[in-house]
Amino acid sequence: MLNNQQASFEKFKKELNYCYEKVPFYRKHLDGAGTHPSDIHNIADVMKLPYTEKKDYRKNFPLGVLAEGYKPNDIRLTRSQSSGTTGERLITVEVGMLLLNRAMKCARVNPAIEQAIFNHARKTCRYAAPNCSDVECANPNSTMEDRLLSDGTLVLPVYHDLLTTSDELIERALEETCNYQPDLYYIDPTHFAFLVRHARKRGISLPEAPVMGTYTSPTQYSRRQIAEAFDGKVALTQLLASSEMGWLALECPHGGLHLNTDSFFLEVIRAGRSAQPGEVGELYITSLDNGALPHIRYKTADAVRLLEEACPCGNKLPLAVMEGRMMNFIKRQGRYIHSPYDIDQLVGAPDWLDQYQCHQLDEDNLVLKVIVNEHYQEGDEQAVLDRLREALGDSFSISAEKLSYIATERSGKFHATKSDVTSPAVFGETHAC
Ligand SMILES: [Zn+2]
Repeated sequence: MLNNQQASFEKFKKELNYCYEKVPFYRKHLDGAGTHPSDIHNIADVMKLPYTEKKDYRKNFPLGVLAEGYKPNDIRLTRSQSSGTTGERLITVEVGMLLLNRAMKCARVNPAIEQAIFNHARKTCRYAAPNCSDVECANPNSTMEDRLLSDGTLVLPVYHDLLTTSDELIERALEETCNYQPDLYYIDPTHFAFLVRHARKRGISLPEAPVMGTYTSPTQYSRRQIAEAFDGKVALTQLLASSEMGWLALECPHGGLHLNTDSFFLEVIRAGRSAQPGEVGELYITSLDNGALPHIRYKTADAVRLLEEACPCGNKLPLAVMEGRMMNFIKRQGRYIHSPYDIDQLVGAPDWLDQYQCHQLDEDNLVLKVIVNEHYQEGDEQAVLDRLREALGDSFSISAEKLSYIATERSGKFHATKSDVTSPAVFGETHAC
């Protein structure tokens, strides 16, 4: 069980009652499953409740899923949309104040981030796929003023397909960053690693500020490149957030990813049961604050692994590892075999590596695509291939390709590990995953 799950369970029951009474979708959803809030007496009973998925919210938005008393155009609501990682984009709303509270509770684990985020005069530079914001940052003709948001965020210009970004646009992003002197970088790790590589090539030092990486999980090579760009004085901080729910987990200065169990009732589900510490499972989230668009047992399609140990930072919020989007796992015979996090641990961050993608083509074949730099010597990738082959076993055929370009996904995100095996998969009882 998660550290303070009992305390959040009391709030869970209130949220469940609230949903049943105030949200038309939930009454139908629970009645349809033959369950009622009064059936839920203890944490184990939570498993009796049906889960919810993205499609439930998409299909019933706005009137079915909005709580009584809220209208879609309510001025208290903040509107956001997902980047469409799995295809269709999802529009969602929540009370702005509640999203802020969730972020505040989560930010407590990292004082530097907390200070930067809640500084009212803050200046943030955002560098991520164009879909991740509402401004036209991919338009080469846009000006800095066009991309400056009312909250002090400067959205830096970048192409939708990251590695095709022109030199002109890269130089503009670097120049704007130096002129703007941000006190926070709010970035996608792959995107920002690309930008700092180009800064170093041009001998440009970017202004020092905390770097918060979200949208996709950081890879080791992106952490290395970002640390190098700031001469080791700045390290990337991982934020796990979703457009629907806000801040779910944040990395502390000791490198621990702390789950925001103050704001959410979190479950890690594996093969129909709660995962034990050390096991990988799917993250299910329940909101606890009686908001405008509450979520009950929301399946995220993200996999995490709970850790049992206490964090040296002293914060009691539970620790987890973000293993990756489940669709990106290496799969075989209907089972998840290796997570993107696993693969990244195997690849590591050798100095010759600028970027990679481990791409599972089918049940038996993987290709490791690498983009290398001036430190590369013929055959350097062999050691990485050896580690992958040892971990994945002889039955996989793994080849390497040296490239100068790897495409991003349709969403504009870049997945360091991806799989074309789309048949349904489960977490096994015996495998590493
Ligand atoms: Zn910690």
